Amino acid sequence: MSFPKVLVLAIAVPLDLNNQNRMIKIKLHNTLTRKKQTFVPLDENNVRLYLCGPTVYDRAHLGNARNVIMFDVLYRLLIEVYGNNSVTYVRNFTDIDDKINNKSIESGRPISDITAETIHWYLEDMAALGNLDPNFMPRATDYIPQMINYIERLIAEGFAYTEEGHVLFSVSKYKNYGQLSGRSIGDMIAGARVEIASYKRDPMDFVLWKPSDQDLPGWESPWGRGRPGWHIECSAMAHDLLGATFDIHGGGNDLQFPHHENEIAQSCCAYPESEFARYWLHNEMLQVDGKKMSKSLGNFFTVRDLLDQGYAGEVIRFVFLSTHYSKPMDWNASKALEATSILRKWHGLIKNNSDIIPVPEEVVKKLSDDLNTAGVISLLHNYANNGEIGKLKAAANFLGLLTEEMSEWFADVDMSSLEDLFIDFRNRAIESKNFKNVDELRSKLTGAGVDVQIGKSNVLIVPNARFDRQKLDEIKIYYDLN
Ligand code: AMP
Ligand code: ZN
Repeated sequence: MSFPKVLVLAIAVPLDLNNQNRMIKIKLHNTLTRKKQTFVPLDENNVRLYLCGPTVYDRAHLGNARNVIMFDVLYRLLIEVYGNNSVTYVRNFTDIDDKINNKSIESGRPISDITAETIHWYLEDMAALGNLDPNFMPRATDYIPQMINYIERLIAEGFAYTEEGHVLFSVSKYKNYGQLSGRSIGDMIAGARVEIASYKRDPMDFVLWKPSDQDLPGWESPWGRGRPGWHIECSAMAHDLLGATFDIHGGGNDLQFPHHENEIAQSCCAYPESEFARYWLHNEMLQVDGKKMSKSLGNFFTVRDLLDQGYAGEVIRFVFLSTHYSKPMDWNASKALEATSILRKWHGLIKNNSDIIPVPEEVVKKLSDDLNTAGVISLLHNYANNGEIGKLKAAANFLGLLTEEMSEWFADVDMSSLEDLFIDFRNRAIESKNFKNVDELRSKLTGAGVDVQIGKSNVLIVPNARFDRQKLDEIKIYYDLN
């Protein structure tokens, strides 16, 4: 009896099919080497990434959404190339921090209420922007034993010391300190306003553990009741969930120093055989008038503010994807208006299309070039202009656009007759200097939960979160529109 050939084929074929996209090379700009490099995962069957998540004491501001969207796109790309079950994405919640403690003291509310509420808001807001949930979303306070274990290793190996109830990492013991941010120790001291404290042997040393008074959150430890410093949590959670060496680590470029520099130092010292993260991705800041949007500068608005003003999550996502993550960007209303008009056109195009086709290879290749999201958007324009609607839908869905969940705001209603009427009323009002009719129309529209966005050459009427289809139909009847 000869060996059945068919059996051999049956084993070989599915593996090959699975791997067809693995031929595509992903290139990423690695902050650690300052080069665009071909991405080679440690294990093709388990590509591992970690993103530093939010400190949960308040609503996320729009800037906080930038790397969430960027990593979401990276996650989708890795899934497309390596397969759905071959990617592990971790994003943490920092739920122990003095900002949280202060908020609790100011408001008189328990910390656990504040963090639970903020986490709930955060997940709601990030989902509204079309982001998939990571595979793991660990909370720092669930990893205190792992952090203590990590710190004990560092003390045992002579990389950390105790002083006045604190445990500090001794920066001079790690020879590669400064490699990620590319700064000298002198620059770092000057630039980061490092804290000089009596318990530090060197001003650059950073806190791994600090004592807590009875009225502050604290855990028993070999150094007394206390709480962790900021940086140790990410090292401990990444180690626990992804291993000592993993593939990609990210965050905003404001985290490069000191946060990520310190993560590398403590991780590479606690586990000398490991590399910690092999590729580091940092996004540029979302700005307001040329300055970083931040809570401390007070120049921020939250994701929820925008959603409540009637900007669809899909529109916000589109605006973010239009600029490469490595460039500074501003949010402004005219970008949102343009995005709204493009997305409306595309929604109209795909409305009756039921094609189910794979993501075009040129799209995957474009995105593989250091997450060139703006390049993919140009391809979407080409597909729309050439009538390649199946491709438009597949490629947009791949970016998290034009999906069913993201389409609610579009609501499949024809606003063109109302828009024409609005323009007509407005032109007459400008001529006659009597705005009664246009004001009346506008207030009826507001009551029906739609926004009137006025551009240079056009007017768009867009449903917002309070959209009421029945009221809109009543307005159309009132004005005798179809
Ligand atoms: P935080 O809650 O301030 O620790 O920030 C959470 C994440 O948002 C970090 O990855 C920051 O780098 C990022 N981030 C903060 N402000 C901005 C901004 N204006 N633009 C882009 N990313 C930001
Ligand atoms: Zn971190």
